[in-house]
Amino acid sequence: GYRSRAAYKLKQLDQLENVISGGDTVVDLGAAPGGWLEVAAEAVGPQGQVIGVDLQRIRDFDDHDTIETLRGDMTEERTRERVIEAAGGDAESAETGTATGTGGPVDVVISDMAPNMSGEYSLDQARSLHLARQAFETALELLATDGDFIVKVFEGPDVDDFRADVEEEFQYVRATSPKASRDESSEVYFIGKGRLTAPVSSGD
Ligand code: SAM
Repeated sequence: GYRSRAAYKLKQLDQLENVISGGDTVVDLGAAPGGWLEVAAEAVGPQGQVIGVDLQRIRDFDDHDTIETLRGDMTEERTRERVIEAAGGDAESAETGTATGTGGPVDVVISDMAPNMSGEYSLDQARSLHLARQAFETALELLATDGDFIVKVFEGPDVDDFRADVEEEFQYVRATSPKASRDESSEVYFIGKGRLTAPVSSGD
């Protein structure tokens, strides 16, 4: 079995849009306790690499030596730099990766980040959207051209604007609520397929 029921959501999302392939480098944001990491490690196989980050410590995986974990807050720039370094990228040039025409070092960025629930939906929803936007910015720094992105967000105001922003950076975006999460019906996952990057400019 997996460490979390959430693992089955990632399986469904991956089956829907073929996000993770053998040999991929995958970055998982909000990865504790690690069900998504286990599913991603199975999908990338022995030639792949999976990097998980969470506020919480993630217990070591005895049966997956392709998984690396970091403890940190994804809303902090320092954590984003550590993730970029772990993925073999260069933190200083990550944001200009687009200028090379190939983008960053990562094939897939997935985020299941969720805030601590206050019980007040409008507050939790706003925090969820903030985390989703942090994940999106990280994805833009990390993803190679044609890379894929999965992000969870709670339904509510401004989610349409967020989707529109994601749509500008990918070939297409699909929204779905996996069956495994239908009991938490406010959740939606956006799957961004095929990260778009600018062609190399011939000037300067
Ligand atoms: N996908 C995971 C699995 O399969 O085990 C479950 C993830 S759980 C739904 C959401 C996680 O997001 C929590 O572990 C939480 O600590 C993490 N999280 C929330 N805010 C975060 C932040 N700012 N930086 C990093 N992780 C965060």
